[in-house]
Amino acid sequence: MRVLGVEGTAWCASAAVFDAETDSVCIESDPYEPDSGGIHPREAAEHMGDAIPRVIEIALEHAREEYDDRAADDPPVDAVAFSRGPGLGPCLRIVATAARSLARTLDVPLVGVNHMVAHLEIGRHRAGFDSPVCLNASGANAHLLGFHDGRYRVLGETMDTGVGNALDKFTRHVGWSHPGGPKIEDHARDGEFVELPYVVKGMDFSFSGIMSAAKAAYDDGVPVEDVCFSLQEHVFAMLTEVSERALSLTGTDELVLGGGVGQNARLREMLAEMCAERGADFHAPEPRFLRDNAGMIAVLGAKMAAAGDTVAVADSAIDPDFRPDEVPVTWRSGESV
Ligand code: ATP
Repeated sequence: MRVLGVEGTAWCASAAVFDAETDSVCIESDPYEPDSGGIHPREAAEHMGDAIPRVIEIALEHAREEYDDRAADDPPVDAVAFSRGPGLGPCLRIVATAARSLARTLDVPLVGVNHMVAHLEIGRHRAGFDSPVCLNASGANAHLLGFHDGRYRVLGETMDTGVGNALDKFTRHVGWSHPGGPKIEDHARDGEFVELPYVVKGMDFSFSGIMSAAKAAYDDGVPVEDVCFSLQEHVFAMLTEVSERALSLTGTDELVLGGGVGQNARLREMLAEMCAERGADFHAPEPRFLRDNAGMIAVLGAKMAAAGDTVAVADSAIDPDFRPDEVPVTWRSGESV
């Protein structure tokens, strides 16, 4: 089974080919980088329109060169998988249109993938875990997922913004360019602790109070290094606390990390320490699989296609609010890829 994945939910136009036999993934990505401010949906969609055909062409060319096991007139892949949501509507529509027309041209099945479940499944696939809890710490989302009764259930989640978007709001206030997360990580290295709000309510958490307090502290003259350090300590401790509670509630001893904020070394350190203390296994995929990427779409697309979980073009509408717990998990029994 060889699958082309296409991703473009917000900022990253990406295409990838996953070959299940060799377990190899080739990813070609072209990020949208706003000149100022955050992600502008219209500009991001224009970027997708420009970049998606190009990254698909490069990924398919790679597949033709890498695997010489098919006749020239056979399709280079067995299915086309695309991010159906959640994400920005104007971007999702472009990705879906490209995937549909390609599936039709190649005469192969189409697979509609939930982007957040893909963030989880790439960690589970790479770690070889059976049934982990997943912390998705991405730009537009922050939630804990656990498998129960045929679906990934949302065990806890942010009550306002996604974790990356919250960090990016602070750095926009400071005047730094997007994305802000890596700049916070750099400046945090020289910072000292100042107290900020810490909001965990059961399994849910909130970032709006801490972000307002961080902006106010910066405006009051607290050194930006101290604010960055303290933001990381508070926000990542909140995520670690809820991850530990999720492990405890589900009785699972496997934790995977997903999403672009997972590239942060301090977050990974806190999660690894917490897991080590309770004897659980922790896996953070390599950075190319943490930030938005089509590799995770191709890998989950292959699992779904192997399970016969494909979609007719007529039924393949995008869903900007596609929640992970809406997805029937069809691929885990008798898993073959
Ligand atoms: P989603 O996957 O929910 O649709 P998304 O498309 O915005 O969200 P991702 O690619 O998963 O995003 O993550 C992007 C986010 O990751 C940005 O908010 C960025 O600031 C943050 N980020 C990237 N690197 C780091 C880092 N080293 N530390 C903290 N945050 C980071």
